Amino acid sequence: MRTVTVVGASLAGLYAARELRAQGFDGRLVIVGEEPHPPYDRPPLSKDFLTGRIDEEQLALSDPEEKAELDAEWLLGTRARGLDARGRTLLLENGRTHVTDGLVIATGASARRLPGTDGLAGVHTLRTLDDARALRAALAGGGLRVVVIGGGFIGAETASSCASLGHEVTVVEAAPLPLLPQLGPEMAAVCAALHRRGGTELITGTGVARLNGRESVTEVELADGRTLPADLVVVGIGAVPNTGWLAGSALPLSDGVLCDDGCVTALPQVVAVGDVARVGGLRAEHWTSATEQPAVAVRNLLAGRTVDSARPLPYFWSDQYGARIQFAGRHREGDDVRVVEGSTAEGGFLCMYEREGRTTAVLAVDRPRPFMRARRELSSAQSPDLPLPFRPVRAESLAPVPEPG
Ligand SMILES: Cc1cc2nc3c(=O)[nH]c(=O)nc-3n(C[C@H](O)[C@H](O)[C@H](O)COP(=O)(O)OP(=O)(O)OC[C@H]3O[C@@H](n4cnc5c(N)ncnc54)[C@H](O)[C@@H]3O)c2cc1C
Repeated sequence: MRTVTVVGASLAGLYAARELRAQGFDGRLVIVGEEPHPPYDRPPLSKDFLTGRIDEEQLALSDPEEKAELDAEWLLGTRARGLDARGRTLLLENGRTHVTDGLVIATGASARRLPGTDGLAGVHTLRTLDDARALRAALAGGGLRVVVIGGGFIGAETASSCASLGHEVTVVEAAPLPLLPQLGPEMAAVCAALHRRGGTELITGTGVARLNGRESVTEVELADGRTLPADLVVVGIGAVPNTGWLAGSALPLSDGVLCDDGCVTALPQVVAVGDVARVGGLRAEHWTSATEQPAVAVRNLLAGRTVDSARPLPYFWSDQYGARIQFAGRHREGDDVRVVEGSTAEGGFLCMYEREGRTTAVLAVDRPRPFMRARRELSSAQSPDLPLPFRPVRAESLAPVPEPG
């Protein structure tokens, strides 16, 4: 392989570039990134960056020394628009084409937008540094009525940060509890209590009908007819994988780029990693997956076939209202939940999710050490005979579904 191209110059793309060099690839390495910024870390955007505790320089994922060592050609501010059927020619935004022998797709995901709100001032999403800069500037001064739509992790963290800046915050969640699919009812109720304890109003069980306002948003109208006055709205209703540019390629797409459990797509010289990749049937939007998958993906890319598989236990953390939530594994509806240390009422706890006598996931609030131990044990207990979702699904067994739009 003479040229390998990484599309997406963020977390997973940078880790893939590092792995390529670490695993001995000494050919031409090209990194194409739509954003003009060098790789930066997203988790602090909704946490310490939003509250002003850290600044932009502290978000950098790489430094000039590493950049020199990587010896890559960086095409930043350049969007890839298409990939030919052989997976060897990229069409770039600027009209140029770029031929490559190997390709790492690391284009991540974008914030889902609320339809009909484009052009309305005061409405924000939070995915990129530019989003975070705009939101941080809008929040300067305090005293705003902020409505956060969506009680998922990013919505909850943003609400927590806004509350700590002195704003009056309301979270609107369509489900009966926030984080219900991720955590199940018992632990979702614990997270709901965090909002209330942090001074945020939480409205659940109703969606948003529309946002009102002429040039700037003034009001959020709920599906049940209630209205909430708002100076600023943050829409946190999830993310969509960035696969639009791959329409027309030979790659099967369905909620991400379909890969086998070694991150290899339908074409052996094309691998996918991070938020955009559906690896062995599962797509994770977690920092740790984006940093762990590249080692396996690159090994398989350089081997020209799947010789290794990526089956780490899904893991994420979240910081809200001064509490650190950590979760590993995958919760399924109907799992039993058992608190094994501490108490959900105060001071932190560790709990296990169980099904048919087996632990399926662990969750902790402010119990980092016991959590790490439990996570390690759960990870080493994974074996091929474990029930889904731990068993990998091979890409061939997934019927390719055309991506909508
Ligand atoms: C506000 C926020 C807070 C988070 N907090 C946590 C947390 O606490 N814990 C946790 O585990 N995870 C967290 N995450 C998730 C974590 O940041 C992601 O899982 C991680 O960023 C995924 O990395 P990635 O490189 O796959 O994708 P991304 O970080 O999305 O990067 C993809 C890059 O590809 C570029 N790109 C897209 N399309 C193209 C194209 N066609 N051509 C060229 N470039 C393109 C994009 O512009 C982007 O720069 C958070 C995410 C956000 C947004």
